[in-house]
Amino acid sequence: MLKLPVYLDNNATTQVDPRVLEAMIPYFTEHYGNAASRSHSFGWEAEEAVDYAREQVAQLIGAEPKEIIFTSGATEADNLALKGVSEMYASKGDHIITVFTEHKAVLDSCKHIEKLGGEITYLNVNKDGLIDLDELRKAIKPNTILIAVMYANNEIGVIQPIKEISAIARKNGILFFSDATQAAGKIPIDVNKDGIDLMAFSAHKMYGPKGVGALYIRRKNPRVKVIAQIDGGGHERNMRSGTLNVPGIVGFGKACELCRIEMKKDTEQIKRLRDKLESGLLTLGDVYVNGSKESRLPSTVNLSFKHVVSEALMLGFNKDIAVSSGSACTSATLEPSYVLKALGVEDDLAKAAIRFGLSRFTTELEIDYAIERVAATVSKLRDTNCLSEMTSADIDLEMKTL
Ligand SMILES: *Cc1c(COP(=O)(O)O)cnc(C)c1O
Repeated sequence: MLKLPVYLDNNATTQVDPRVLEAMIPYFTEHYGNAASRSHSFGWEAEEAVDYAREQVAQLIGAEPKEIIFTSGATEADNLALKGVSEMYASKGDHIITVFTEHKAVLDSCKHIEKLGGEITYLNVNKDGLIDLDELRKAIKPNTILIAVMYANNEIGVIQPIKEISAIARKNGILFFSDATQAAGKIPIDVNKDGIDLMAFSAHKMYGPKGVGALYIRRKNPRVKVIAQIDGGGHERNMRSGTLNVPGIVGFGKACELCRIEMKKDTEQIKRLRDKLESGLLTLGDVYVNGSKESRLPSTVNLSFKHVVSEALMLGFNKDIAVSSGSACTSATLEPSYVLKALGVEDDLAKAAIRFGLSRFTTELEIDYAIERVAATVSKLRDTNCLSEMTSADIDLEMKTL
């Protein structure tokens, strides 16, 4: 049975997996201790649960548990990585290289650093959304301390050449930070094979709860340090104070474990359905895939429907299908997405973009429904647009119907 509305906005957030919720509940009800309480069993139980979750999280990305710093999410992890590195290594240099298509949490942290006197170079992307490695090499200066490039983009799902980027960083003695919020749990990540020194990710993009995430910080080859951005009781090895969100962290751990074990199976199903959705909608004609089709998350497709405006399109079906125009932050202003602009997508096509994000809970029935419903809305809007264009061109419609 098809249950409406159909949720296809999984790049914004995912449903909590029932198995994740189940793991969390005892940490609200029975085991509600503070993980920093050392004097009684409530505290010990909470600490043990956090330690276990830290292992689960570390295992997903090939890290050591000690290299995981729990945060309130990826926004905080992005802030801690960028500001924390820029403060820690200020005596070494003040130049950071990043990309125009990064998430706002990265771009706005960079803006903050710029305001404080730091220097930021923003790399361009090509029409596929990928950076040019030569442009990266040329951007490196003696005072460059950090390269920040996201693993996979939240709007278009495009995966950057992470291994190549990290090799360039390594060769030049520069730290490499990656916002892997969209990639973690969806595609295999190994911080050692990938050469990542710091990495941000978040539970709620991978079937875990909102308000919990992590920053991976490498502890050897090289040993990386950051200056805390939240001071207090010295939790998380002094890098992030604040009472740990024990149920959230337990849920994050469980979510990571499930993604690790089920990634292959999930990916096969999700990719098949995404490809079906994509090819189904492409048959409409004048529909364009935004970003690389090859180097892309299996769960995401961002499409531009020529001759329509995404807001009008969504109005047509958003009671029954939940998607986004890919720019939740700017959609209120009707400005096209800065990510699509960076790809060089023309304004009218950028304003006609819809992002579809699938999950392990997306069903074939839902995709069949979405294809039919979106296609019908696009066709209807194109017909009306066509009529209104003719009207504005002073064509006598009544004459035409005769
Ligand atoms: C969602 C997202 C974030 C923000 O994560 P929160 O945990 O919601 O703060 C950061 N970067 C990317 C790429 C994202 O997709």
